[in-house]
Amino acid sequence: MSKKIYDVAIIGCGPAGMTAAIYAARAGLNVLMLDKGAPGGQMINTYEVENYTGFDKISGPDLSMKMFDHTQKLAVNYEYGNVVGLEVESEVKVVKTDDEDYLAKAVIIATGTLNRRLGAKGEENLAGRGISWCAICDGAFFREKAVIVVGGGNSALEEALYLAGIAKKVTVVHRRQGFRADKIVLDRAQKHEKIQFELDAVIESFNEVNGKLGSVTIKNAITNEKKEIICDGAFIYIGQDPVTSMFKEDIKLNPQGYIIVNERMETNIKGVYAAGDVTEKELRQIITATNDGAIAAQNAVKYLETLA
Ligand code: NAP
Repeated sequence: MSKKIYDVAIIGCGPAGMTAAIYAARAGLNVLMLDKGAPGGQMINTYEVENYTGFDKISGPDLSMKMFDHTQKLAVNYEYGNVVGLEVESEVKVVKTDDEDYLAKAVIIATGTLNRRLGAKGEENLAGRGISWCAICDGAFFREKAVIVVGGGNSALEEALYLAGIAKKVTVVHRRQGFRADKIVLDRAQKHEKIQFELDAVIESFNEVNGKLGSVTIKNAITNEKKEIICDGAFIYIGQDPVTSMFKEDIKLNPQGYIIVNERMETNIKGVYAAGDVTEKELRQIITATNDGAIAAQNAVKYLETLA
């Protein structure tokens, strides 16, 4: 039996991928959506979203489920799959996963980004034993305990606020005085009685006590003075790296590994589009990801018409 050929395969089931699926399905295309995790991408690890139009406050998991339900109402095929490669030589592309190959005439890459590691001493060893990259998943382990949050962007400060509702004390460790976080979030964190700041501070090491994280050693970047902070948990929010290593042979990436697209979300390969955080862009938000997804799908529809 010959293998099924989808009109469009969407790799990644975050806001960009799910929106692309909705637009493509509504245009009558036969859509496959693949992901190796639960639908939602980074959204699912976000406690609260306050800047997605129409929702003044909604939890990341709730918004993820609403978007996913929307795709399922339109009968989008959703499959688990860890994508390891993409063959783009012929008109029908091959999306390769760990255990299956899928065929599609057009492909939309929406694989997003993964949380970055600090590379500090003790980090790998204590990952999952006090060190986490997801406050919403692991925050509850630190009820009435002391935790640190590393970073000065929106993620770090939003998750510090979330953790302040659980932990006894939250110390934000940031490598300089200025913050990338939005002012409204920064103001809220600075006013919170449970949140303290260590600025111009870099992590020297994560220190093990009785088989788990017991403290961190920080160093002042200006004075070189070292200090130990006793803590049970450490949450690292220092940005993300794009998930593109499996595409790098054929798809044009910028030096940081983000996919280069034009305003139609086209990559350098005909019939292959990219959308959301994985693309080279200035503003990575849920709303800009959905925007990209709609544009990518619309242009995939036009491309498929040229094949007919
Ligand atoms: P981000 O904005 O890139 O911030 C990363 C933070 O980590 C920066 O403060 C950076 O310091 C610090 N950092 C980076 N590498 C480091 C290292 N090796 N050691 C110590 N500190 C390091 O990342 P993000 O907070 O994850 O946000 C990513 C994107 O998502 C942003 O565009 C953000 O606005 C967006 N986002 C938006 C919302 C929202 O609007 N509600 C929520 C979450 C995320 P420097 O500042 O010194 O470089």
